[in-house]
Amino acid sequence: MTSNSESFDAARALIPGGVNSPVRAFGSVGGTPRFITSARGAYVTDVEGREYVDLVASWGPALLGHAHPATVEAVQRAAEKGLSFGASTPGETRLAELVAARLAPAVERLRLVSTGTEATMTAIRLARGATGRDLLVKFAGHYHGHSDGLLAEGGSGIATLALPGSAGVPEAVAAHTLVIPYNDLDAVRTVFAEHGPRIAAVIAEAAAANMGVVPPDPGFNAALVRIAHDHGALVILDEVLTGFRVGPAGWWGIDQEEPYTPDIFTFGKVIGGGMPLAALGGSAAIMDHLAPLGPVYQAGTLSGNPLAVAAGIATLEAADAGVYEHLDRTADTIAAATSDALSAAGVAHVVQRAGSLFSFAFAESAPRDYAQVKAQEAFRYPPFFHAMLDAGVSLPPSVFEAWFVTAAHDDAAVSRIVEALPAAARAAASA
Ligand code: PMP
Repeated sequence: MTSNSESFDAARALIPGGVNSPVRAFGSVGGTPRFITSARGAYVTDVEGREYVDLVASWGPALLGHAHPATVEAVQRAAEKGLSFGASTPGETRLAELVAARLAPAVERLRLVSTGTEATMTAIRLARGATGRDLLVKFAGHYHGHSDGLLAEGGSGIATLALPGSAGVPEAVAAHTLVIPYNDLDAVRTVFAEHGPRIAAVIAEAAAANMGVVPPDPGFNAALVRIAHDHGALVILDEVLTGFRVGPAGWWGIDQEEPYTPDIFTFGKVIGGGMPLAALGGSAAIMDHLAPLGPVYQAGTLSGNPLAVAAGIATLEAADAGVYEHLDRTADTIAAATSDALSAAGVAHVVQRAGSLFSFAFAESAPRDYAQVKAQEAFRYPPFFHAMLDAGVSLPPSVFEAWFVTAAHDDAAVSRIVEALPAAARAAASA
């Protein structure tokens, strides 16, 4: 049998850092990444045959649990009919119909792409094309994929590796992105006061979840839309992570105490049920600026791939109210048990929550922006993470990532997590 460390050594000889996405390398928690051979329901199995309760869920897509029978069957059926045609299929329209129904009336048109990065990149080009302006505003600690203009003070792996951005981004490109602190409406007003006529769009995670979870203050997203619209700018609400996960209509659907409508939504992860699929959507008036109707170009050999579309349809069709209730309840249980264990061990912490998404900050009070997130006692996470992993629970390998539950996390899976917590909390305490 091959071990995880042999697998990692072999990978490092051929793949930069042994991984095809940086956070997988366990850089901030240390140790040997697990090489996974299969996954089913709430569990993943590594090359050594060890099974873990999984709270990564492929970083979000596995809403129903891994290898959900309906999704797998839909992909198999699609595969038998051909892997890719480079032509339109009825499935693409069906998927657009499901999304439009969930996000009515805000999403009238949907364009399918293959990754969240493509979705946000295209959304920004669309916003620039539709407004004729060039500047973009983003929030520190928010992650929108790895396109050039979006890495400045990004969350996710950029936060995990403590990078200010990325090498290889031309200064001229970076200069078109204005980064401001999250949950700070004064900063939003100031950036518009200074640059208003040149700002094409503000992009925001619907609820930030790539610096750990940091929900927007109540009314923040609504105010953001109001201020941007007052200045003729658009708002891109990035629901790649939250979309179809925290509720049937994503964070937007549960954040309507003060109603607001962003101009462009981006989706990914759950929309493809584990296959490479993402999308951008919005009103016909905005979306019809895209080619072939309009002058904003975007294309993709594998865009709307029939296998990915089949997985997306199967996932959204299965994700009914019962699924979302289960996710909320499961998140409640795991978050409370983790918090109790940390308290019992005397570890200062706060539970950060956005719907069924949650994470923990090792701090006395809830961080509301990236500076506060970074000020926490992050050194407590690696020993906590490894104690959980040793006990058979796979958490995200960074304190700056959300924990993901699935519809397959049943009582047995939750019990295994709960049993592992006291020792992990003690490890965090003695860090
Ligand atoms: N936006 C958000 C909010 C994300 O969480 C991510 C990925 N974690 C992306 C965009 C980029 O998606 P992808 O990794 O599919 O390119």
